Amino acid sequence: MFTPAKPPLTGETLDSLSARLAAHGEPVFRAKQILDWLYKKRVRSWDEMSNLSKPLRAWLAETFELMPASLVLNRQSQDVTDKLLLELGDRSLIETVIIRAPQDGVGVDHSRKTICISTQVGCAMGCVFCASGLDGLKRHLSAGEIVAQLLQVCYREDAHTPRVRAELASFDNLVVMGMGEPLHNYDNLIAALTILNADWGLGFGARRITLSTSGLVPQIRRLAEEPLGFRLAISLHGATDEVRERIMPVNKRWPLAELIPAARDFAAKHGRMLSLEFILIEEVNDTLDQAARLAAIARDLHAHVNLIPYNTVTGLDWKRPSLNRQERFAAVLEQQRVSFTLRREKGHEIDAACGQLRLRTERERAVPVAGDAAVPPL
Ligand code: SAH
Ligand code: SF4
Repeated sequence: MFTPAKPPLTGETLDSLSARLAAHGEPVFRAKQILDWLYKKRVRSWDEMSNLSKPLRAWLAETFELMPASLVLNRQSQDVTDKLLLELGDRSLIETVIIRAPQDGVGVDHSRKTICISTQVGCAMGCVFCASGLDGLKRHLSAGEIVAQLLQVCYREDAHTPRVRAELASFDNLVVMGMGEPLHNYDNLIAALTILNADWGLGFGARRITLSTSGLVPQIRRLAEEPLGFRLAISLHGATDEVRERIMPVNKRWPLAELIPAARDFAAKHGRMLSLEFILIEEVNDTLDQAARLAAIARDLHAHVNLIPYNTVTGLDWKRPSLNRQERFAAVLEQQRVSFTLRREKGHEIDAACGQLRLRTERERAVPVAGDAAVPPL
């Protein structure tokens, strides 16, 4: 586990910061002032917090890291995707993506923005098609590191467009679909989303937050009980155990017979539509038989299906099916009157697929990052 010399301010809640300040002999209202500087005014240094005394600013600087992630690369694609490569305190790299179009829509509408964040460095799940999991899991992100990604997005946006509102309201959606399996880092994720959601934080509505999971059944059940009602997307990628198991090792632990009831219960609890993600990989899961079985699952769960043509990963042999095959697959869903979207992929040319930019940069740098012995078992 990476333990930073100082905890990040972005990992503090109003309550935890108030307690720290009280213990230091400061009035509790200072906590709100400090978090206003961080999330509403979005200053980048302690010295800009001008309504705090100099000694208090000095104490804060000694006690907390203001920003635990720094921007090392900002790659803008020709179309609509903007990718931020961020470096953490231990030199680990993570990716945060801004997508300037509807996630699942047709056509380009630049007024809609979605942010995609990472939750781990690497991933333990080992899906055979995915760049994020190729080198395994390095470590979980802390809550503060997860929140910091959103602040970096704000800094970037503030620099480009005049700020209309202090909150992240100009973003339509937040998707937890970057590097890592969010539900494997459950506590830090929920802590971070709580900070993002709070009115003293970034004020981002829970209903505009979608978590994507490869299918950790106990955590899906636990998530259903959370007070904040997040949306859920399940990465299915196979409509039978046989196909799913071939590409997603997690299916051996939690096969469809356990995953589907958990998904059904989640949807019933929240009264909201689930999404099923289905990457189309040639000759693996793009057959008409898979399409028919996927249609049956989607109808049973009243779920929306996102068909995502596979994004090739350097070093892996999996292929994207031809347009013809993609459409043939989609036609089966249409015939079965399943709500679905065939995603026109965004940002291919900047390695927007899960984890690729980071993997390439990390391998070029060849920085060994210590493995994390403290990661709990799945
Ligand atoms: N670990 C979570 C969230 C991150 S992955 C999950 O698996 O759901 C986000 C999505 O990107 C998943 O649906 C994942 O399967 C998909 N993905 C991974 N590699 C991809 C690739 N090369 N092309 C297209 N989608 C990919
Ligand atoms: Fe991890 Fe998701 Fe990639 Fe699977 S698809 S290895 S769960 S990030």
